[in-house]
Amino acid sequence: MTTERPAWRAATRATQALGKIDEATRAIVPPLHVTTTFIRDPDNLYRSGNIYGRPDNETVREGEAVVAALEEGAAALLFGSGMSAAIALFLALGPGAHIVAPKVMYWSLRNWLVNEAPGFGLAVDLVAAEDLSAIAAAIQPGRTKLVWLETPSNPLWSIYDIAGAAELAHRAGAKLAVDSTCASPILTRPLALGADVAMHSATKYLNGHSDVLAGALAFAIDDALMARVKQIRGAHGLILGPFEAFLLIRGMRTVHLRVRAASQNAAELAKRLSSHPRVAQVLYPGLPTHPGHALARRQMSGGFGGMLSIRAAGGEKAAIEAAACVALWRRATSLGGVESLIEHRASIEGPGSPCPPDLLRLSVGVEDVEDLWSDLDQALRG
Ligand code: PLP
Repeated sequence: MTTERPAWRAATRATQALGKIDEATRAIVPPLHVTTTFIRDPDNLYRSGNIYGRPDNETVREGEAVVAALEEGAAALLFGSGMSAAIALFLALGPGAHIVAPKVMYWSLRNWLVNEAPGFGLAVDLVAAEDLSAIAAAIQPGRTKLVWLETPSNPLWSIYDIAGAAELAHRAGAKLAVDSTCASPILTRPLALGADVAMHSATKYLNGHSDVLAGALAFAIDDALMARVKQIRGAHGLILGPFEAFLLIRGMRTVHLRVRAASQNAAELAKRLSSHPRVAQVLYPGLPTHPGHALARRQMSGGFGGMLSIRAAGGEKAAIEAAACVALWRRATSLGGVESLIEHRASIEGPGSPCPPDLLRLSVGVEDVEDLWSDLDQALRG
């Protein structure tokens, strides 16, 4: 589905879920459409455009319009998870396609690209994507169909150059897709920087309450690639459920407030942790010492996100012990919710991960920063 260019800024429109009023009841909260099937007209047509729940659903379409507005895209599609959104895009490229992706990116998706994609006839090269020349060297004109980036990227928070990669991809006739989960549309708009597709694990910041598993793809133009992705979503049954779409729309009403609050908390904690005696290194793109800081300043606005990692001065054992000592922070995987999470990341990524064993990943929430600091400080001091 498509959306008009916003007259108001995207955050304003998201707050009102695009301001749609239900015609039947005049409700300001859109109704939840759970039906999986629709009445066929007596002359055998489906004039409503609705036939069955697997290809499409009205509540899902409303959520897609909000995502498209936030990403300033032509259209968006929602999926049952971030993984299914990304995989639908990869499958839409078709057998024989070559994909260039970063070495450092969300581990589960990287594992899919390495272990599963070849079975679907897709060839993948993983590169040090901080370096545009490494992306350029890996692109095979005519064969490379997609350059994939994730910025800031899990769990080292490297920053990749969206505009630079878009130019390289387009010159070779390829598309650029960006996993923008950790930036959120509040801090970075990949499509405005030249990307063709912005992807989200909407499980994270877009929903923001750790109670919905969802994925989103926003497209710069409603083209043949998007049509193919939609066909794959329908055939494979990857669409988001209507109740999840309803919750996601509710979550997106506050995404700008939550992301800005989390970014402020993360920036403050990153600064304080930088001089903590038990911390060897803080990885946060908002710190001037971060190698991607200058680029982050150019392509992010309004903050550097709520995600940061620390490397424990005492090594892996000290990192695991610190995570065991928190009282307020939740020792759990995932990110982007209102509550702060801490995770010994190497334990979940397993062998082959570029994640150092002494690394703790912090998803900073919107609690009072002084409470977050004192709990983290006492945990690190053991
Ligand atoms: N991309 C990033 C950056 C993620 O952090 C995740 C999940 O943690 C995903 C994609 C996959 O999303 P989901 O868990 O919604 O399938």
